Amino acid sequence: MSHDVIETEIAVIGGGPGGYPAAFACADHGMKVTLIDEGIKPGGVCLHRGCIPSKALLHVAKLIREAHEAAEWGVTFSKPKIDIDKLREFKASVVGKLTGGVVELSKARGVDLIAGRAVFVDSNTVEITYNDKAKKTTRLKFKQAILATGSLPAMPAIFDIGDDRVMDSTGALNLPDIPKKLLVVGGGYIGLEMGTVYSAIGSEVTVVEMTSGLLPGCDRDLVMPLKKRLDQQFAGIHLNTKVEKLTASKKGITAELTGEGVEPQQTFDRVLIAIGRRPNSRNLGLENTKVELDDKGFVKINKKLQTSDPSILAIGDVAGEPMLAHKATREAKVVAEVLAGEKAEFDNIAIPAVVFTDPEIAWCGLTETQAKAAGIEIKSVRFPWAASGRAQTLARTEGVTKLIIDPKTERILGVGVVGAGAGEMIGEGVLAVETAAVARDLADTIHAHPTLSETLMEAAEAALGQATHIYRPKRS
Ligand code: FAD
Ligand code: NAD
Repeated sequence: MSHDVIETEIAVIGGGPGGYPAAFACADHGMKVTLIDEGIKPGGVCLHRGCIPSKALLHVAKLIREAHEAAEWGVTFSKPKIDIDKLREFKASVVGKLTGGVVELSKARGVDLIAGRAVFVDSNTVEITYNDKAKKTTRLKFKQAILATGSLPAMPAIFDIGDDRVMDSTGALNLPDIPKKLLVVGGGYIGLEMGTVYSAIGSEVTVVEMTSGLLPGCDRDLVMPLKKRLDQQFAGIHLNTKVEKLTASKKGITAELTGEGVEPQQTFDRVLIAIGRRPNSRNLGLENTKVELDDKGFVKINKKLQTSDPSILAIGDVAGEPMLAHKATREAKVVAEVLAGEKAEFDNIAIPAVVFTDPEIAWCGLTETQAKAAGIEIKSVRFPWAASGRAQTLARTEGVTKLIIDPKTERILGVGVVGAGAGEMIGEGVLAVETAAVARDLADTIHAHPTLSETLMEAAEAALGQATHIYRPKRS
């Protein structure tokens, strides 16, 4: 069969926060770039059905909670009325503006945008099936390809019962209705963020987590203040608990649960499955190239983000954990430099993680849990937000700011924060870890007063001896 053939220098496959910044950076370096995404507009999971819509809804959830809690300061609002159509419109308008912006920026940079699905025919050719079914398939020949096809929600067969009341994150973000009772399977990022949204708009949320704690991998002292608050907001959080079976009926979705102290059969109006994501590396024709996958399906790459195929590089979720938008975007900048022939590698040491719950949890660099597991000697210093003037003015004193420090050199190896707005604070921590700052650097830097960022300065002061707002008697 004959095909139309077009040519480019760089083909970027996938237009998420990995792909579109990579396409832009390559164009900025003077390369001829074609960006192919199978969505209606580029933006990927992050803009269409991930980071952005979830944060728009979390903003609304925060407003609802704060309005409720204001009663304690003598300000009472009536119970909020939720117009779910309007809420959906707000979310869609945010997504629309940002994805429209990506299209405009692509045009401005001369990046050719193709709305279609690309599948590798060989190491230098993809076949494109256009979204517009009236268009004939095309073969696109390229010198180099950047694979940025992202990831997909994990949906094991036992949960995939063919009933749309059992949702993945995309389904939950669509806000089909406000279920009276929502079961969230998985106490990770998505489960807790979307659980927070649904609980704020009126659902009774029950979380079932298979392991012994929420957000496995995160330091327990950072999770504790969040767990305490969620225990009050959610109908139940069941740890060490498994969903054995889901059955659909007119009444709802009945879950069979096993775990200590959990009612073994419960019926819900909807169920959100949020048990992790898998790399989107299947059905891409990678078998027609030399690209290799690891046993979890991630594309194997080196520090230059090169795969085992000399013509193909890979970035973002498809190329390994952590599956975070900002990791993908940093890799995008590096991959463009590599293709431009510069001496570049992905060598960042601190990739921040932020869970946008209330309170937020944010961390970067070495965690206490990792240090313990690896037998690394560290000094861990915690500054409780009860001693922060700013936290007191916000009535959010449950927070903690923590530094993980090398006891010999005082170098800051990791930073963890739990508290309102922790996500905005972690940037300073990332800079400290990335630039090899020592505790003295943080302690001697003037932080504006009253701000929560002062807790980073005071934690560093505490590491060096005494912090102004906490006093620890000297040991005799
Ligand atoms: P993706 O964003 O997954 O983009 C891949 C793109 O490739 C998609 O547009 C897809 O259509 C396209 N594609 C796939 N195959 C083909 C093909 N064969 N041909 C053409 N196009 C193809 N991360 C954060 O850092 N912060 C957050 O707050 C956050 N919140 C999240 C909330 C939710 C609900 C979810 C699900 C994820 C969230 N994430 C968050 C994770 C974040 O969305 C991902 O890490 C990020 O989107 C990965 O970017 P990527 O460019 O690798 O791939
Ligand atoms: P996750 O890995 O964060 O959490 C999944 C949770 O489900 C874990 O706690 C795990 O122990 C649990 N689990 C696994 N199987 C289970 C089972 N059968 N029953 C009960 N619990 C089970 O995954 P996620 O929440 O689906 O999110 C996927 C990824 O998307 C995240 O890891 C992250 O990389 C990204 N994400 C990031 C953000 C953010 O940056 N704020 C937000 C959402 C998603």
